[in-house]
Amino acid sequence: MEKKTFVTKEQVEEIVKKYPTPFHLYDEKGIRENLKAIKEAFAWNPGYREYFAVKANPNPFLMKIMEEYGCGCDCSSYTELMLSDATGARGDAIMFSSNDTPAEDYVLAHKLGAIINLDDITHIDFLEKTLGKLPEKLSLRYNPGGVYTISNGIMDNPGDAKYGLTKEQLLKAYVILKEKGVKEFGLHAFLVSNTVTNDYYPMLARTLFELALEIKEKTGVSLSFINLSGGVGIAYRPDQTPNDIRVIGEGVRKVYEEVLVPAGLGDVAIYTEMGRFMTGPYGCLVTRAIHEKHTYKEYIGVDACAVNLMRPAMYGAYHHITVLGKENDPCDHVYDVTGSLCENNDKFAIDRELPEIAIGDYLVIHDTGAHGYAMGYNYNGKLKSAELLLKEDGSVQLIRRAEKPSDYFATLDCFDEYRALTERS
Ligand SMILES: *Cc1c(COP(=O)(O)O)cnc(C)c1O
Repeated sequence: MEKKTFVTKEQVEEIVKKYPTPFHLYDEKGIRENLKAIKEAFAWNPGYREYFAVKANPNPFLMKIMEEYGCGCDCSSYTELMLSDATGARGDAIMFSSNDTPAEDYVLAHKLGAIINLDDITHIDFLEKTLGKLPEKLSLRYNPGGVYTISNGIMDNPGDAKYGLTKEQLLKAYVILKEKGVKEFGLHAFLVSNTVTNDYYPMLARTLFELALEIKEKTGVSLSFINLSGGVGIAYRPDQTPNDIRVIGEGVRKVYEEVLVPAGLGDVAIYTEMGRFMTGPYGCLVTRAIHEKHTYKEYIGVDACAVNLMRPAMYGAYHHITVLGKENDPCDHVYDVTGSLCENNDKFAIDRELPEIAIGDYLVIHDTGAHGYAMGYNYNGKLKSAELLLKEDGSVQLIRRAEKPSDYFATLDCFDEYRALTERS
């Protein structure tokens, strides 16, 4: 499928008058349409709720939009909890799915009334000691081990993953929780990441629904919710077919009616914790070509670097690139598109066929709305970019300013000359 940008060259030329490149730009219209589609796809389940995985894009302006559609927040750290609280998510609108969890994070999660999802059987004791008493509602994270394969060969290796309880531990843990007075129970699993197939959730649902029956039979515990977590992917590459959330929702419904309903578990609420699917395609990184270099290869140097988008450097991930205004030009040049870090993996594309790029051209790096800005860091003293929201009416709102040198130096307030440093910036 052809990958189109949601912003034009003319729009970018207007935006840069106020906000210089590089910046992440988000598409409000796309985010809202997707939210509507998700809501409809799972409307058959009265208890359904999407808990947006905050780590994918921890911007309160975007989180607020999601709350309008009834979404909760999925958090895994103290500051993500603070952020969710600040956007108005309260009580069971917060899912706390963390691992290797510090005690103070549990304390805050409990104070906010979040649903706590335990990553290990030892955390039952840890949580009880930390809080004095277990909450009345608790969820457990399951790891089936081995290799998990779905129809089109996409798979992951839960057996190598640090997350979750084994089945034996899980069954034991529900019994312990029940004995300790827990009244409401949930089950959670995240087995495969970035699945570009409509089969993942339905497959996972079957695994978890069948397990729910076994839990009921062996422990007497009736689950009140099953959390399919994240993992619904997006089509980063033009040759991939994007997931259809309606087909996915319908697939889960079929399994629900086949497995849960006949077993008398037809009131289980389905939760999801999608991150990538919620914002990934609705964000892009806009950057400008500032150098070209011809050595053993052809290079285009842009004003963004891996600090703004780490996925290509970290995972060799593909992000599609459009040169604005040259959408219809032939891709008859082969470039490495690089950032300025002193790291040779700081490349947004390697041997990529693109139209001829001139200095000053704007490049749109696609699908940066999730795990893009959020994974940013400050290596080489590089500063993080601004985040902008392209509103439905075509206007642009600054939803996070770019970092300044004073932000970079802010944690040096133990250094006497710190004031001089920050004042200079
Ligand atoms: C990362 C994560 C998610 C979101 O995953 P996506 O692949 O972005 O949808 C959901 N739940 C948990 C516990 C996570 O760690």
